Formats: sequence, C-alpha cells, structure tokens
Amino acid sequence: MSEVLAGGTVVTSLDPVAVERRDLLVDGGRVAAEGAGSRRDCTGCLVVPGNVCAHTHLYSALARGMPFALEPPTNFLQILQRVWWRLDRALDEESVRASALVGGMEALLTGTTTLVDHHASPNAIDGSLDVIEEALTQLGVRSVLCYETSDRDGPERALAGIEENRRFLARVRDERPPLARGLVGAHASFTLGDETLAACADAASEFSVGIHVHAAEDGVDERDAVSRTGNRVIGRLDAAGALDERTLLAHGVHLDDGEAAIVGRANATLAHNARSNMNNGVGRPSAAVLGGRIALGTDGIGSDMFEESRAATFRLREDSLAAGSAWPLGQLGESARLAGRIFEEPQLGTLAPGAPADLVVLDYDAPAPLHAASFAGHWVFGLSSRWVRDVMVAGEWVVLDRELVRADRRQLVADALGAADRLWACLAGLPAHPYEPEGALR
Ligand SMILES: [Zn+2]
Repeated sequence: MSEVLAGGTVVTSLDPVAVERRDLLVDGGRVAAEGAGSRRDCTGCLVVPGNVCAHTHLYSALARGMPFALEPPTNFLQILQRVWWRLDRALDEESVRASALVGGMEALLTGTTTLVDHHASPNAIDGSLDVIEEALTQLGVRSVLCYETSDRDGPERALAGIEENRRFLARVRDERPPLARGLVGAHASFTLGDETLAACADAASEFSVGIHVHAAEDGVDERDAVSRTGNRVIGRLDAAGALDERTLLAHGVHLDDGEAAIVGRANATLAHNARSNMNNGVGRPSAAVLGGRIALGTDGIGSDMFEESRAATFRLREDSLAAGSAWPLGQLGESARLAGRIFEEPQLGTLAPGAPADLVVLDYDAPAPLHAASFAGHWVFGLSSRWVRDVMVAGEWVVLDRELVRADRRQLVADALGAADRLWACLAGLPAHPYEPEGALR
C-alpha cells in the first residue's frame, strides 16, 4: 500500500524536535523518501510519530470503579493485597482477551501505537500472552509482552510464569510476528525468591532479551531485598544477572544514588509512571534516577501518553523549574528508542525515510506559530488525545476519522462490559491476598 499524507505539518522526530511542512509518503509499511500513492488529505493537520507506552498493565482495563468491600488500603502493599492481587486471580482467558481488546482500542484512539505490557493472570497463565498478542494484532497495536513471574502464588505458578515467558519468546523468535515481541516478565524483587529470579535471568539470557520488572516502586521492595539478601533491589538484580542494557525497570521511586549509578552503568531503561506514583502515594524518583535513561509508562492508567507526559511534566516542575517543556519529548523519544531496540528498528518513533510508519494525524488548531522551537510548548499546553483523527501502524490505517478500522468499537465495549460483570462477580468472593514480603512492616 502506498499512501500520501498530503498537506500537513510533519513532526519527523520528537527528540530532537524536527518539523517539516511537506507531504509524507508511506510505502511498504515504511516512511518513504519519494513516490506516489492514494492521497489522505491532512491539510491543517499535524503528523507526529505514534506514542509508545513503556509500561502498562492491560489486565487492569476492566477494573475501573469496581466495587470494593474490604477495608480501604492505607499503604502500597495493602493496595496490592486488596486490589490488584485479587483482580489478577479473578482473570480468565475471556477477561484477559476483553481487557486487551478494550485497552488496545483506547491506546489507538488516544494516539498510542506501541504498548509495553506486563501481564498477570495467575489462574490463567498458559497461553495468556498469545491471547493478548492476538487481540492487539487484530486491532493493529504494536506490542512488547511478558508474563509477570512471581512467587507470591506459590512455586507452581512461578514455574508456570517462567514457562509462559519462554513459550512466547520461542514462538516470537520462530514466527517473527510483525507487531509483537517479548521480554521476560518478573513482578518485583519482593515477590521473587532467588531461584525464581535466577530462572528469569536464565530465560532472558537464552532468548537475548531484557527482563521487565518493577523496581523499588515502594520502600517495601527495598526493605525486603535488604532483609532477604543484605543487598538493595538493584544490587540484588545485578548480582542475579538480571540487569543489563536490555533491562526495563518500572518506577524506581525508592532507588538511592548508588542504585541509580548502577542502573546508569548498566544503561538499563527505567519506565517512569508519574500518575500511578501519585495515585498510590509511593513518592517520586530522585533527580539522580530521573537523570538516567527514562521512558514513560502509565502503569495501567489507560495508555494516553499525551496525558501521562503532561502530568509527569507538571509533577516534575512542581519540584524544580529546571525541567523545561521539552522534557516530556525527550522521555517519549526514549520510550520509542526502547521499542526500536526490541523490534530491531532503530528509526521507530521517527518519521524519517525508512522508519516503520507508526504515526498519528492530529487535527490540531494551533493558535500560535508551530515550529521546532515552539513544538514542546504546544505539546505540554495544547496537544492532547482529543485531536487524534487518524492512526497508522506499520503502514496500515488502524484509526480513520476517530474510529477503529479493524474492529467495531461498540461491539468491543459491549463485550468488555459483559466480561467486567463476570470479573467483578468473581472478584467479590476473593479475600485479600495473604502474601507478606520480608521486612514488610513500616
Ligand atoms: Zn506496573
């Protein structure tokens, strides 16, 4: 398919910002330098690279507003025990599929073309990554998937989690699906015994991929690691062979300067989830941590990266005005580079000739001049997902005129509502999760 996106303003790169007023040609799934094709009128529109969400949990898509009968949690561990570790145990194949479909739908409609997901469904582990992959591929979402290995539900499920990562990684290696890749998923140091962590590191090494793991989201993770091993979280991961330039750490809120330095030397990526950190009251990463290789994620609060990057910027500037308005663009660029390394597509996240054509057409009425020097200001103060008109992934239209191309939005939502009813009913019978880390008491 050849397509000319005609008459728009093309942002060929977010980091550094590059803006050109020209038609954009897409051919064979990639941005092309020249040629002809069918025309899509983009007059007055901005064409930007598709956003990448570097850490999310699609399985939370049906949880919004679910009834809560237990005593309200007062700390992070209780949020896991009483909310998320109950929800994940209630998931079955059907609710995993419905979550992926409706979460993937929202991603595309808000201009996010790649999701890096961290999945848990301890009573439906085997094949769960295939279910998510099929749902996202059906919609046209690019994805990086993993299963959240953990010892919190016992040794059998820990083994099954590792096996699910290995099975999916072997499939991806053999079949090379165009829109999906894998990492080795691990929950967090505080729910991983030494054997399980070592098995995760082995799998990552065997398949030459990174480990995707929560790290020091809350102080409980650090206290557990010290109590368990004498090491802090990053030292423990490093000693287990679970930290290198392919590692994706999520949160990093409680990393100290020494740990930030180790992460920096390893050149690992850290997914910063500002809204989730605020919502869970876990604190925020230090300047030393945020000075590293920082991508942006939502931690399951949807996948709207306009909203996430804007909130992260405001939260950062509340602490220090040293963060300029270009800050979110650098971090979104880092998110795209992460996905680019995983897909072996170094131009992913740009609209330079040869880049995979993952892009978003924004029907944006710029009320002030828009060029490379002013673009960051438009991003933070004016752009949002409400301007998303069309979305293309790998050269195929997946959203046109604000509607999904490959699926019926109303049907997906109706199916999700049915699945949510069943999930919520199942959840009502589940008590708080009994798992207690070492050194859990504050
Ligand atoms: Zn997370």
